[in-house]
Amino acid sequence: MATSTVDYSKVKNTTYYRNIGIIAHVDAGKTTTTERILFFTGRKHKVGEVHEGAAEMDFMDQERERGITIQSAATTAFWDLKDHTFRINIIDTPGHVDFTAEVERSLRVLDGAIVVFDGKMGVEPQSSKVWFQAEKYQVPRMCYVNKLDNIGADFYKSYGTIVEHLSERAIPISLPFGLENDFKGIIDLVRMQAIIHKDDEGKDLDIIPVPEEYKEKALEYRNKLIEVVADVDDDIAMKYLDNIEITAEELEVGVRKATLALKLFPVMAGSSLKNKGVQAMLDNVCRYLPSPHDKSFTVADKETGEERIYKDEVPGINPKTDEPMTRKLNETEPFCGLVFKLAIDPHVGNLAFFRVYSGKLESGTYVYNSTTGNKERVGRILMMHANHREEVKEVTAGDIAAIVGFKDTRTGNTICDESKPIRLETIHFPEPVVKFAIEPKTKSDQEKLSEALGKLISEDPTFRSETNPETGQLTISGMGELHLDIKVDILKREYGIEVIMGKPQVAYRETVITDGEHRELLKKQSGGAGQYADIAFKIHPRERGEGYKFVDSIKGGSIPREYIPAIDKGIQEALTSGPLGGYPVVDVAVEITDGSYHEVDSNTDTFKICAYYGFKNLMKAANPVLLEPIMSVTINVPEEYVGSVTGYLSSKRGLIKNLLQRGKTKELVAEAPLAELFGYVSDLRNLTSGTAAANMEPSHYAEVPKNITEKVLAAGK
Ligand code: GDP
Repeated sequence: MATSTVDYSKVKNTTYYRNIGIIAHVDAGKTTTTERILFFTGRKHKVGEVHEGAAEMDFMDQERERGITIQSAATTAFWDLKDHTFRINIIDTPGHVDFTAEVERSLRVLDGAIVVFDGKMGVEPQSSKVWFQAEKYQVPRMCYVNKLDNIGADFYKSYGTIVEHLSERAIPISLPFGLENDFKGIIDLVRMQAIIHKDDEGKDLDIIPVPEEYKEKALEYRNKLIEVVADVDDDIAMKYLDNIEITAEELEVGVRKATLALKLFPVMAGSSLKNKGVQAMLDNVCRYLPSPHDKSFTVADKETGEERIYKDEVPGINPKTDEPMTRKLNETEPFCGLVFKLAIDPHVGNLAFFRVYSGKLESGTYVYNSTTGNKERVGRILMMHANHREEVKEVTAGDIAAIVGFKDTRTGNTICDESKPIRLETIHFPEPVVKFAIEPKTKSDQEKLSEALGKLISEDPTFRSETNPETGQLTISGMGELHLDIKVDILKREYGIEVIMGKPQVAYRETVITDGEHRELLKKQSGGAGQYADIAFKIHPRERGEGYKFVDSIKGGSIPREYIPAIDKGIQEALTSGPLGGYPVVDVAVEITDGSYHEVDSNTDTFKICAYYGFKNLMKAANPVLLEPIMSVTINVPEEYVGSVTGYLSSKRGLIKNLLQRGKTKELVAEAPLAELFGYVSDLRNLTSGTAAANMEPSHYAEVPKNITEKVLAAGK
């Protein structure tokens, strides 16, 4: 294991912390940019090229081969600006749609982000997708138009697509100096300086006043910037109206204010590959992106829906009373943190990546998991630098680190001081939609396979594996075919297990659409000890995504208290296999209303069994239906093919949601059931002579039409 000599206590004041993410469409240059940041911040001595497969952040083999970043790694770097050293924690996020959950959980713990764009392509489907995800989490962000050294790169055109598709409040704070082969550096619009690189190494640069031929353009864009900043900064507004010159220092303060308020998204120019504009970007990260104290959280009131904004404190609930509460984001408060990723490392074992929101945590102590109610020992605490790790004694509010030694903690759990518990909002993950039957090529690998799957499941909350109790068939399910291909690849590479995959199947669900009631009686008198349980239940439909809820409305002790949890458990077991086709049951509330028991023949087991069988009958009394995953499909296609693609989608039970102009092509946004979409990539290729580019991702679950339900159920049998 490599070690480094960085002094992690170097930056104590959290005002100088920057917890950031770099998000982008695949291939825009996120990995290269991250890698250059590590290079310039001195953690790395050699520049590794992505195409040579040596980039520091992508430490998993298959990521290198596929050239996409799957795992979310956290790394710490330091950067000096003026008299301060800043600590920059970078959370790596993937760019592919199949890993939406990875992006979401990273966004949850970030304070700010850099969105990287390809200087030739401008906004691409994934960049807009992550942009709006970041919007949801209110993450202040800057845009970085990369690859300006590329032939065909056009800063202004790419910038235009940002304004058109993402935000009119995206305004350049730097412009390119030169372009394509002549791209030499940037014009800093705040300081009105040109930063010109003398070579492609990034070390030797000149800072000069804006050259004459760039002045007009620079002033034009500086004025645009001032106009937007004036919206949030009265001093600047006054000076602007009075035509008084605005200094670099004043504008810097204003740009920061506007960026933190999400009223401005500063746009920067650069070429990470050619080491141009990266140092300026790092300066800007320190200048304009939030410290942990600047990040705001918005919480909608559960009853009224009214939104409240919290700043410099994190909202949560008191796990004992369910009352809302908050924690200030400083070191003197009781400890609380959020686990946002689990990973298993071959050398150190289980790693739980977490963000500290308040207080401090020392290694060798215990924490309380307020989501599960368990206590966990904090073995070691590690600061990560891709595959290099550094052991630390203590972490404090604002830090991002990993704990070694947790046994029973999942992604999204809150860890905190047991005597002062708080539960932060958990991270929500989408349900898996695609399923494959798998079996090991070598029968003797069976046991090894279930062990490996267990590990993969604990690392990725959107990946599941099930064995059908009747047929014994093993299935894996996840967010898409690529997602599952990658898991199979990991099984082969890391665990040496080769598996045979069946055809992709739809992960159907079952639910009910009306209320229903049922009374189940279990009564057996066979010689010695008998069995007795009697439960009256009601079932109520819930909204999609609300899950299962257990309601105890028993009055007067018709069922003794100690049997109630067993009933809940029995129902939860029954939920795994619904009465229609044995698919998991979702979004139902089960209320127990009455019942009876026997002094001798009743126990927790009889109530659990009774609940298990009773639930199936209860479902049947409330119009059970099948649910199927609906995918959101985006297809970019030349105008002349729009008609045939629309026709194709309609024949697939698709619904066209939107038709947009994207440059010279059209973008069709549609929804269609996953069941109809297997093989759609090759269909589209044939229909459009290979010109269509398509992307799909899970949107929601919807009821399967009656006639199709019959077919699905018949095929399932
Ligand atoms: P990611 O998928 O967003 O992580 O993108 P990568 O960093 O892997 O970059 C994708 C490809 O673009 C690689 O071949 C890089 O070498 C190349 N690339 C990245 N940045 C630049 C740049 O500034 N200029 C040029 N010309 N190519 C770049």
